[in-house]
Amino acid sequence: MAFLSIQNLKVQYQTQGKRVHAVDDVSFSLENKESMAIAGESACGKSTLGLTIMRALQGNAAVSGEILLDDKPILKISDEEFTKNMRWKEISMVFQGAMNSLDPVFTVKQQFEEILKKHGYKGDHQKAILEAVSVVGLPVDVLEKFPHELSGGMKQRVVISMALLLKPKFVIADEPTTALDVLVQAQIMSLLKRLKKEGICVMLISHDLGIISEIAEKVGIMYAGRIVEFGNLSDIYGNPKHPYTDALLKSVPKLKGESELVSLKGNPPSLVNPPEGCRFYDRCPHAMEKCKKEPPKIKTPSGFVLCWLYE
Ligand code: ATP
Ligand code: SF4
Repeated sequence: MAFLSIQNLKVQYQTQGKRVHAVDDVSFSLENKESMAIAGESACGKSTLGLTIMRALQGNAAVSGEILLDDKPILKISDEEFTKNMRWKEISMVFQGAMNSLDPVFTVKQQFEEILKKHGYKGDHQKAILEAVSVVGLPVDVLEKFPHELSGGMKQRVVISMALLLKPKFVIADEPTTALDVLVQAQIMSLLKRLKKEGICVMLISHDLGIISEIAEKVGIMYAGRIVEFGNLSDIYGNPKHPYTDALLKSVPKLKGESELVSLKGNPPSLVNPPEGCRFYDRCPHAMEKCKKEPPKIKTPSGFVLCWLYE
């Protein structure tokens, strides 16, 4: 049985009389203890996917499809039950930019206390808070500080430890290293790796293929609302099948060896009126007439690719 199974997930935002197809027919699954990453350029729907699993979408979003986490149908559970038994307890999320939304007028400890109170935590608060900060390697004196007294890296650790406070099995981290310098990025990545070793399943959302390679066993490449390729990290990085995955990998600078950087020309299609056929058609060097039709989903050794080249 898969730990996370997503089937035919669609998320549409209603905005200014238009419908944005932010996630369009996404399906994949993850085994127990596997960590994964969702990669793709800005506005392809990565955060929407994470927010949907966390049931934290704004009111203008309509969702269909199925999400099973540990066999629990996340989209069918009532709000009350999800809040009581799942959010932060089974599944939590480090939201994009969350370190900048720590409340400036409360100390870190007061903000931890607030979360525990809100969730009616019955155990020893002091013990839970100390455990959460020690997991992320923060010194105890951080608890008495206000957010403005902390560095960016420390704030990000605080936000991650808040997500871990109620000991969830599954943590979604949305761009957790963006806006941090490379050394702090490395610290945050080693922290996520440690969590993984401790049995927490991490879903990393990032546009940075370098950091993804450090943590994920499975990778989903997202383009214009769709997962266009999914599989083991080694297959995706070593033998990319989808022309978009290939282009994405070629656009990453390498420190050693000769490699020509390739930049992708053009822009992804609008998600308001996405084309009927392959969404990468306008930018793909291999585009063929039949690519104007919906691309087939082809099985690969460890996942799938959506592309007519492999039919
Ligand atoms: P980034 O990497 O820049 O965070 P992303 O891949 O996470 O981007 P999303 O934030 O999921 O992408 O956005 C997907 C699409 O949905 C975009 O076109 C975005 O403008 C749109 N969108 C996101 N949230 C809303 C909303 N609440 N209402 C309307 N449209 C939205
Ligand atoms: Fe390119 Fe066609 Fe494959 Fe789309 S389906 S990625 S246009 S070859």
